[in-house]
Amino acid sequence: MKAVIIGGGISGTVTAMALRRAGIEASVHEAYPSGGEDVGAFLTIMHNGMDALRAIDADGPVIENSFAAVGLELVTPDGRTVERRSFDIDGLAGPRTLTRASLYRALQEEAISRGIGFERGKRLVSASRGIARFEDGTFAEGDILIGADGLRSVVRTIIDPACPPPRSTGLDVVYGYTTDTSIPQAPSLYRMIQSLHAFFGYTSTPDGSTYWFARLPTAEGVRSGLSPAEWRSAAFAAFDGEPLPAAEIIQSTGDDVFGGHSYDVPSTPVWFNASMVLVGDAAHAASPAAGQGASMALEDSVVLAQCLRDLPDAPTAFAAYERLRRARVEKLVASSAAVSSGTTSDEGRNWLYQHHIEWDATIPRN
Ligand SMILES: Cc1cc2nc3c(=O)[nH]c(=O)nc-3n(C[C@H](O)[C@H](O)[C@H](O)COP(=O)(O)OP(=O)(O)OC[C@H]3O[C@@H](n4cnc5c(N)ncnc54)[C@H](O)[C@@H]3O)c2cc1C
Repeated sequence: MKAVIIGGGISGTVTAMALRRAGIEASVHEAYPSGGEDVGAFLTIMHNGMDALRAIDADGPVIENSFAAVGLELVTPDGRTVERRSFDIDGLAGPRTLTRASLYRALQEEAISRGIGFERGKRLVSASRGIARFEDGTFAEGDILIGADGLRSVVRTIIDPACPPPRSTGLDVVYGYTTDTSIPQAPSLYRMIQSLHAFFGYTSTPDGSTYWFARLPTAEGVRSGLSPAEWRSAAFAAFDGEPLPAAEIIQSTGDDVFGGHSYDVPSTPVWFNASMVLVGDAAHAASPAAGQGASMALEDSVVLAQCLRDLPDAPTAFAAYERLRRARVEKLVASSAAVSSGTTSDEGRNWLYQHHIEWDATIPRN
């Protein structure tokens, strides 16, 4: 069997590595012509995401390019710390923080070093029966086609032209990086601040730099096409005048600021057909609040490869994969949406973190 994978982000590269480990040939076709240096946000791969990488011995490159996240603190607008939560859970290896660009680069380099064919500048425009056609007029052929093409998945719309579009979460998310070491530090810790109008979080890197994000409630399209300076001003305005370090941190940031509206995909009715299947954000995308989108994409990738390894044909494998994954990912998307909208507290996450993949376990048909 040969798999053509559309998208060389998180799930595409890891699905390819997992399939290779399962003895299935795979090639990756990524729309971006470059290595994704412009992918501006940072993210944390939680325990369960690291576990999925470890299942295929691919956690090493992520650990090398990241720093540990040891816990979080919740702070009120008047500066009181109301909760401290450790990420140390039953001896599980802990989460890691890194930029999306570093994560993409690390996974792509690892996939290529494992002998996986990786083509850039290949934007899928159409596909049928294992043949993928790209914008540049070329095509790739395989027995199955895996849609790892993210939030705005083309493969999702090929499988089901009536699939619902991504949904606005009602939040703009702004990310920034500052090297100013004089601001209050949160070494390897996420300090989360629920302010009067918005939500702010930051963590300090081992060299004293600060990574921060701000979630600003707003309707879709209100802020579009903003420059880094304009995103910085928008974030600053949300915290200006409050007795918290948020405004100070934002002000100390140069042009390393990136913003955009955020979306989720709560439920994709059809995940597969006879020869095509979705993984990661293409199948389900969570709002950034739970910090789990990447980890869920990693779990999907490894479980899909196990299903294709153990079951007799692609449709049977795809059905088993959906059975194993749908309830978990949809529960996560719903809980992340509830955290985003402030309708629930961000508690009780061990059901997410303690997920474990035993690579050698055989996947049953039903
Ligand atoms: C601002 C932001 C912050 C986030 N923060 C976190 C966090 O802290 N923790 C967390 O776990 N998750 C976070 N996420 C979610 C996480 O980034 C996603 O869940 C994760 O990237 C999903 O991986 P994926 O491989 O499915 O999709 P992606 O990483 O989006 O990769 C999809 C790939 O497909 C390519 N592609 C798209 N269309 C085509 C096409 N037609 N042809 C070929 N290639 C195509 C894209 O260029 C891209 O490389 C965040 C997301 C955003 C937007």
